[in-house]
Amino acid sequence: MLKIYNTLTRKKEEFKSINEKKVGLYVCGPTVYGYPHLGHAKSYISFDIIHRYLKYIGYDVKYVQNITDVGHLVGDVDEGEDKIERQAKIEQTDPVAIAYNYENIYFECMDKLNIERPTISCRATGHIIEIIEAVKTLIEKEYAYVTDEGNVYYRVKKFKGYGKLSGRNIEENLSGERIEIKNDKENPEDFALWKHAEKGHIMKWPSPWGMGYPGWHIECSIMSKKYLGDTFDIHGGGMDNIFPHHECEIAQSEALNDKPFVNYFIHNNLVTVNGQKMGKSLGNFITLPDLFKEYNPKIIRFYVLLTHYRRPTDFDKEKINEAIKNYEKIEKTYYKIKKETINIENNKEYDDIKELKNNFIEAMNDDFNTALAISYLYEVVKIANTELNNNEKDKYKLKYIEAFIEECAMKILGLKFEEEAKTDEELLNFVLDLRNELRNNKNYELSDKIRDELTKLGYEVNDRKTN
Ligand SMILES: [Zn+2]
Repeated sequence: MLKIYNTLTRKKEEFKSINEKKVGLYVCGPTVYGYPHLGHAKSYISFDIIHRYLKYIGYDVKYVQNITDVGHLVGDVDEGEDKIERQAKIEQTDPVAIAYNYENIYFECMDKLNIERPTISCRATGHIIEIIEAVKTLIEKEYAYVTDEGNVYYRVKKFKGYGKLSGRNIEENLSGERIEIKNDKENPEDFALWKHAEKGHIMKWPSPWGMGYPGWHIECSIMSKKYLGDTFDIHGGGMDNIFPHHECEIAQSEALNDKPFVNYFIHNNLVTVNGQKMGKSLGNFITLPDLFKEYNPKIIRFYVLLTHYRRPTDFDKEKINEAIKNYEKIEKTYYKIKKETINIENNKEYDDIKELKNNFIEAMNDDFNTALAISYLYEVVKIANTELNNNEKDKYKLKYIEAFIEECAMKILGLKFEEEAKTDEELLNFVLDLRNELRNNKNYELSDKIRDELTKLGYEVNDRKTN
């Protein structure tokens, strides 16, 4: 029985899907204006695990993830520049080129982390018509209003459930947020559904309220409704999305559809660097392309899974080096097992491994506790190594362990084990043998070429006597 910690109720709850065999999952995707960073890795690996595990226990999962390519303003407030337009100025190119480029880089990085792609990846700019229709409906229902400046705002006071996700009430927000900025809102807590395009703004569309562009929050209400319906099973995102983003999504969707928006809200915790918050302004910001120069992405994935998704992942080089050792131990064991089990059919069960598998599944059922699940994987690897060191190896047991590793570590956790690369020495001997064969056949032209190339690479070739 799967239990999920639901941010809406602040409790672990038994998971029940709306449709018996299906799950609708929506996760807020990236705003594509810069390189993805370690925080993205934490978030999308966490939801990849949730996606994989729901499939593993038999659900047909429709996983929708948006791409924010317009409307996300600097500082996450209703004032200031669009993040993508600002980056376009810096790189002296079009906003659309910025969004396209960073979307590609985002997916390249996610692929390297062995994150399965969502069923549907949808862009905000592809849903402007639906957004305008929804804003019109919200105005008709008096949940929104148009100002003289051509902006449309959501009237927060009208929505009784505002604050139910974050636990904040409007008064608290007033003291906590930067809302003293002068603007055309009825109330400072109101948020933009549609923004009037100022002079020089490139990404804009015609609307009943003039040329403009959507606010940041509305796209998720609209795309989740379009692909998953008015009410769906699971909505995910980083903890920093709880307020204001997800609170605003609830307000928009429930006012629009007169139905509950989401049954389970799941939020992953954030990344710290040596215990400190990670941030561009703090100078400890780690982008994934930079990180992958130093570490194999499969290690980063493993490292993220060593911490439960609701706890912060601390980027600490010593701890990563420790993780590399543990990872390599599993990987080596797996390949040693594979060598022993060629032509062995898996037809026996072993109680000790079976129990560890049950423990592994129980850990995953307990709000996707990968950290605990991996501790059982270690135990299995230990048993495997004892077996591998025996003179009389039980190959059926090794086969049974192989199946455990493939199912639990590879399929559910998405870990990747690669065949050990041939050592340089083996490769070099192969080249030298080949060269001797050429010399034996009196193909001196090619054999000399190989010798010269090897010399360039720093190897000295001493010719053995040939006949
Ligand atoms: Zn969202």
